[in-house]
Amino acid sequence: MINQQVKTNLIELTKDELVIWLTEKRIQAYRADQILKWVYLKQADSFEEMTDLGLAIRSLVLQYFSINRLEKEKIETSRDGSKKYLFRLTDGNFIESVLIPEKDRYTLCISSQVGCAQGCKFCLTSTGGFVRNLTKGEIISQVRDIQKDIEDPKRLTNIVLMGMGEPLANYKNVVGAIETITSGNAGLAFSTRRVTLSTAGLVPFLDDLGRDTMVNLAVSLNATENKTRDILMPINRKYPIEDLIEACRRYNLKPRNRITFEYILIKGINDSVDDAKRLAGLLRPVKSKINLIPFNEHEKSEFKRPEEAVIRAFQDILVDKNYTAVIRRSKGEDISAACGQLRARSI
Ligand code: SF4
Repeated sequence: MINQQVKTNLIELTKDELVIWLTEKRIQAYRADQILKWVYLKQADSFEEMTDLGLAIRSLVLQYFSINRLEKEKIETSRDGSKKYLFRLTDGNFIESVLIPEKDRYTLCISSQVGCAQGCKFCLTSTGGFVRNLTKGEIISQVRDIQKDIEDPKRLTNIVLMGMGEPLANYKNVVGAIETITSGNAGLAFSTRRVTLSTAGLVPFLDDLGRDTMVNLAVSLNATENKTRDILMPINRKYPIEDLIEACRRYNLKPRNRITFEYILIKGINDSVDDAKRLAGLLRPVKSKINLIPFNEHEKSEFKRPEEAVIRAFQDILVDKNYTAVIRRSKGEDISAACGQLRARSI
């Protein structure tokens, strides 16, 4: 895999792979920690910066490896301060990431695929279809590169895999990227408590995810009956609501953790009093909290956002049944940056 003609992007490598390469070159394994610390914690762009490495090692790694950044095609800033990054990948495809300012920190919403095959009816990403999976390095680089871009004292603390693509459909690369994003000595050192993966409900991967990572889980539910969810989210025809809830019930949750259920409220489709009551019943077996997201209207969809009173009534029913149910307003609406509805106008 590692050859001298084509340099390997170091961001694509695990620490173990780097250690194996170093060992083959008769270089001590601890050098891997030094190199990766420079790449991730000190944001180095070249091996020349790695002054504690020694000239001989630096010139050797330089022959085989590069440290790549994503090419920033465009950055748009919303009225509310959200920033949408449009990255051009080496094969000419585009992806988006959205940096969302909170009171005292930033949250970053990142993509896992170019396009998406899931075809959710409310989602702009789905209209372009699926193009390809992102590599591990392309997922990590969204975090690494944007982290470097932040100039004010507010820190980037939270990562959500909620942008373009279904993360569980790119399981191996997503889990590999999470490993690096959360690794303290060989990565970006984010706390697993502050990384959230959002899925449309690829049931067979949920057991694996609970076993392989410690990140938070969010499930995009959006309906309480199969006949509605079949239309809104075609994945439901394969893995219906009952199977999804059962997989959530047995999900390997950390103590005191809960699964977040996202529910996009769409006028006349899933916003009735009966829906709210059914939702409360459905989630009873799961340790859960609910994010209610009024639909973010866009020109490619006929769906509408419910009236404010309907949104409040829906929330009240859930709160009455002792759920934590929060109404989440989309950020960056004026730059089409609402997570899960990402798609650059320029693509
Ligand atoms: S909502 Fe998520 S899973 Fe559904 S089509 Fe959009 S990006 Fe894909």
